[in-house]
Parts: sequence; C-alpha cells; structure tokens
Amino acid sequence: MVKANEAFMHLKAGYLFPEVARRIEAWQQRHPGEEVLRLSIGNTTEALPPSIAKAMHEKINLLSSRETYTGYGDEQGDKELRRALRLHYEKEYNVALPDNAFFVSDGAKSDAANIQSIFSPSCIPAVQDPSYPVYVDSSVAGGHTGEYKDGGYQGIVYMPCDASNGFASLPPDAHADLIYLCFPNNPTGAVATREQLKAFVDYAHREKAIIIFDSAYSDYIQTEGIPHSIYEIEGAGDCAIEIGSFSKNAGFTGVRLGWTVVPEKLYGDDTFHRLWNRRQCTFFNGASNIAQSGGIAALSDEGRKECLELVGYYKKNAEIIRKGLASIGLECYGGIDSPYIWTRCPDNMSSWDFFDLLLDKAHTAVTPGSGFGKMGEGFVRFSAYGHRENIEEAMNSIKENL
Ligand code: PLP
Repeated sequence: MVKANEAFMHLKAGYLFPEVARRIEAWQQRHPGEEVLRLSIGNTTEALPPSIAKAMHEKINLLSSRETYTGYGDEQGDKELRRALRLHYEKEYNVALPDNAFFVSDGAKSDAANIQSIFSPSCIPAVQDPSYPVYVDSSVAGGHTGEYKDGGYQGIVYMPCDASNGFASLPPDAHADLIYLCFPNNPTGAVATREQLKAFVDYAHREKAIIIFDSAYSDYIQTEGIPHSIYEIEGAGDCAIEIGSFSKNAGFTGVRLGWTVVPEKLYGDDTFHRLWNRRQCTFFNGASNIAQSGGIAALSDEGRKECLELVGYYKKNAEIIRKGLASIGLECYGGIDSPYIWTRCPDNMSSWDFFDLLLDKAHTAVTPGSGFGKMGEGFVRFSAYGHRENIEEAMNSIKENL
C-alpha cells in the first residue's frame, strides 16, 4: 500500500472557506430561491483597471503573431517587471533592493506556503493568532509541527492578538525561527506601527530568526506613518523575506500574480536566496507572461493611480460596513487600513453560531473568526469585497433583521 505523506495527515480536516461554502450551500438548499449576500471570502469583484486590461490585450496580440510570440520566460520573472518592482519599492517606500531580490510568482498564497520548503523541518514557526490559514497549514504540511491539541498545533509558537494589544502582538518570549507576520492583517484588519515592527526585527536579530512578511494588503494603508513594507524598518534587510500580491490592489485574484523578495544575503549568508532561486527554477516555470504584462502596467504611474482608485472603492465598502455594524452596537475593529472588519459576536456567541444567525436572519454570509485560530473564537470577519449595491443591501438587511 502506498503511504500518504504523514505531515499532510496532521492537517485539521476541512479548510475554512470550503466549510463556509458548504454551509451556505446547505442553507440555500433549505431555502430555495433565496439569495445569500456574501461578505465572506476576500475575493475581488470589480473590473480590471483599464490601462492594465489594455496592456494584457496588447500582450495577447503579440503572442498571436509568430514574429512577436514568446514562450517560457525567466523563472524568476520578467526582467522589466522585476525592475518595475524595484523602482516601486524605491519610489513609494524609499527602500533600495536589487532587481534580483524580486522573484515573480503566481500569487502570494503559493509563495507563503512554498517558502517553507527551503527551511529545515526542524525550524520552529511562529504565527499570529488569528492568522491567514496558509501559514499554519503549510507549516503542518511541511512537517514543522506535531499533533493538533487544544486549538493549536504542537511545535508552533502562537502570538495571541486581541483587543488589548490592538491585534498586533508583541514578539513571543519563546524562540522561533520563522516568524510569519501579516500587516495589514487578514483577518483582523490591524496594522503595525514602526515601533511594533521594529520590535520584531530586533527579536529576529536576537534569535537569528527570519521574518516572512505578508504585505498583500499594503495599498490599503491610509494612516500616516504606518510602514507599507517590512524593509522600511532598519535591519529588516538582514532578516526578512517579504511576500506581495497584485490580487487585492489590481484585481488579479483570478489573473494570478505576486512576488517574493528574498534579499541576496540574510545575516550575511546567501543560502536562502540561492535555495529560493533553485526552488523556483526547479519547480516553477515562471508566471503567466500575460499576467506579467498586466503587472508592469499596474506599476506604471497610470496603473498605480487606477489601482489606488480600485482600492478606494473597496475601502469605501469597508467604511459602509464598519459604520453600519457600529450603528447597531457591534464592536468592530479594522476596516480603516484594510478591507476586513473584525467584529465581536454579540452576547458571547461563538463564531459559528453568529455565522448561522447572520445567514438565517440577514441572509448574509461572513467568515467565522474561529477558523483563523483559537483567538478568533467569538469574532467574525466581514469582507469589503463586493459590489457596492450588495454591500449596502447586506448592511440594510443586518440592520433590519438582527
Ligand atoms: N496573503 C493574504 C494575507 C491574503 O489574505 C491573501 C488572500 O486572501 C493572499 C495572501 C493571497 O494572495 P494571492 O491571491 O496573491 O495568492
């Protein structure tokens, strides 16, 4: 009998979003013809910005002619896109990195998981609790953890995030080797100040640890002085890997494009840059050339303007949700520098009970906070990704029926 990968067997059954989808479907079967207003998954809904769509059309035209057709590109990404990313970091974050620190990918989620493969299974991961599930699940599948017990995996250092620390924990007391951080945070919508990030960089230097910083929502930051990139913090260039995405600012959730920054040297050693390069060359044939043309356009002056307008649309949705929930007395966090509104369930309800109540009474689907970790219990996440009219309808329905 062929044996399954033991590490995968440790994964807790049922990934969060399929379970949400299963419950919505079951509800719809019980209520035929009723529409569900979805404020659950972080999936973009608005059209691609025009200059980005145009660039991708043009690329298709080039691919349609023998003279201008191109096949496989560089595994690390199109040189022009890597250069554009470097210039973007320089111009907007005042961060200087060489082009070859940028590795273009098909998205931040796969990079957040795949990056595990260049570290020893003996490395101890630390994650924020609650957190985007892929950090924990890839740690489990990568064999970094033991059994699931009492709401967490043995072998993971959990960094509890709650209202008392503004959902941005301090670095842990315990030793960790790989510290996953995500700001603006999914699911809590929290951002970290310069001082809070500096504390993590100092911790990393003390423990000789590596930070894996997920900046997928950096364009949602509007509060002055909040860093958009971990490399804005002194010393981060020696200890941090950063993962970025075009999904949430350029609407590329379906197009698929992201990047990972691996500095040429971490603590003066080029091992991880070499290994990530090796990993990408061996297991990845490069991101779609059509998507990469869109990425180059997204980083142009015109593209940036359009992306920020798109982000502004979702942020307006977030404001409508935040104000609507607050108006009926619900305790809300986030939704200012982020598309997510982290909401405490009323009357000490559990996350899934409040999920069911919102679905039953207001026909609105959200995401139960407990799916993001033990500390998420008692919260739900509202997502601002939706057409404005659906967001308004959902909020009216919640206000009327809850
Ligand atoms: N990182 C975070 C924190 C996310 O919330 C998401 C998607 O919801 C991703 C990464 C996925 O990004 P991508 O679409 O580039 O894979």
